[in-house]
Amino acid sequence: MARRTKLYEGKAKVLFSGPEPGTVIQYFKDDATAFNAQKKGTINGKGVLNNIISEFLMLRLHDIGIPTHFIRRLNMREQLVREVEIIPVEVIIRNVAAGSMSKRLGIPEGTVLPRSIVEYCYKSDELGDPLISEEHITAFGWASPQDIDDLLAMSLRINDFLCGVFTGIGIKLVDFKLEFGRIYDENGEMRIVLADEISPDNCRLWDAKTNEKMDKDRFRRDMGGVEEAYQEVARRLGILPEGGVAELQLVENESGDE
Ligand code: UDP
Repeated sequence: MARRTKLYEGKAKVLFSGPEPGTVIQYFKDDATAFNAQKKGTINGKGVLNNIISEFLMLRLHDIGIPTHFIRRLNMREQLVREVEIIPVEVIIRNVAAGSMSKRLGIPEGTVLPRSIVEYCYKSDELGDPLISEEHITAFGWASPQDIDDLLAMSLRINDFLCGVFTGIGIKLVDFKLEFGRIYDENGEMRIVLADEISPDNCRLWDAKTNEKMDKDRFRRDMGGVEEAYQEVARRLGILPEGGVAELQLVENESGDE
């Protein structure tokens, strides 16, 4: 493996210093965690699938004018991205009740929401990403009111677009989580861009006809068929080679490092 500096190792990804200043390499692991890392496991081929799914969605979002950190995919497990200063706020967008919102508010999973609901969580593993309001975000200086306006506008636009993409392939986008970062240009001007990844690790995706889960809930809830579900998302997006993930991994082994 080429020598480079590991900047950070998270639950599902490792970040390495990139080839040019202001760039970072995101390496996608097969490791999976749930319930604030109390449950740990591996999902065979997940890193390869999330890398191509996230690449595809980030490129489509770029096409509609959403600024993202994505530069290009390097190989089967790595992508080159812009280095950003991560805003410590997770933006969750919900179209259908599920997960923590169903539990908190007693709304049965699967209830279609009267409109999309946006929630914010403070990004802190130690605290278990607690739900926060705009008041907390501005009072503690995590983002300004103007930043929040930008985050909200981008998130709703991303939601509308992704709902369309997934509806087109027979999948309901139930909810998902976004992370944003700041980039400063040479004049010190700040821009907010979409960062992290968009994949079945941080989206709830249900088959439109059967409501079958096609995301990390299969792992969280020990439902089995996790690899197959991620693979099916990639297949429906039209980005899985005919040989499936095995073929992707073959390429991975042959391609080596860039
Ligand atoms: N989510 C995520 N990372 C988190 C918390 C949530 O990617 O740390 C995603 C999750 O996959 C789901 C959505 O955000 O698509 C809403 O998650 P929820 O608040 O229901 O929490 P969960 O039930 O996953 O604990």
